[in-house]
Amino acid sequence: MAELEKIFSALDFAARQHIFQRRKGTFNIPYINHPIRVCHLLIQCGEIDPDLLMAALLHDVVEDTPVTAEDIARQFGETVARIVEEVTDNMELPKEKRKQLQIEKAPYLSHRAKLIKIADKACNMEDLLNYPIWWSKARKIAYFNWSYAVFQHCQGLNPKLDQYFLDVYHRGMQQWQ
Ligand code: NDP
Ligand code: ZN
Repeated sequence: MAELEKIFSALDFAARQHIFQRRKGTFNIPYINHPIRVCHLLIQCGEIDPDLLMAALLHDVVEDTPVTAEDIARQFGETVARIVEEVTDNMELPKEKRKQLQIEKAPYLSHRAKLIKIADKACNMEDLLNYPIWWSKARKIAYFNWSYAVFQHCQGLNPKLDQYFLDVYHRGMQQWQ
């Protein structure tokens, strides 16, 4: 029960930090739907480690809000903070550099950061398939292929999660061929 309370405090914290943010796309879906889905997917794939699930709920907070890794460490512990830090891009770098660094750094991520990377990419690809967005087909394909490049360095830890990612990836590729 103590662990459930910790997970819900991470969810409550993430919801408050992302409160005014919306996902890209014509429906303006509340941002928090995304970290909830990433966490849910990990649970569906059998992951029950509370630190992993808290980091999944908080995974975009440092990148997209004024919250720092130190704030996360104080409230949710060093382990969670380090995982969130691992999956956080340096937003001071140009976008293409950030994309390239994600591929280059992927092999050296911790086990838990790799699981979040795969779930994050699978959920983003699924959003691109399920909800209307202004992106061209070429941009969607480019996003899927970049996600696949990151996935290749992170796979092999949870077969169910790997299969989920591959199913979404192939669904997109078949749809746009
Ligand atoms: P972006 O980085 O601009 O957007 C993708 C990120 O936005 C995701 O990683 C996700 O991050 C977040 N996001 C928010 N809402 C959604 C949603 N509804 N669905 C999916 N993701 C969402 O995209 P890219 O730069 O990666 O663009 C894809 C490819 O297209 C790249 O290879 C790029 O080079 C190319 N490109 C093409 C352009 C063009 O006009 N043709 C312009 C720009 C890029 P999070 O999980 O952090 O929320
Ligand atoms: Zn994300």
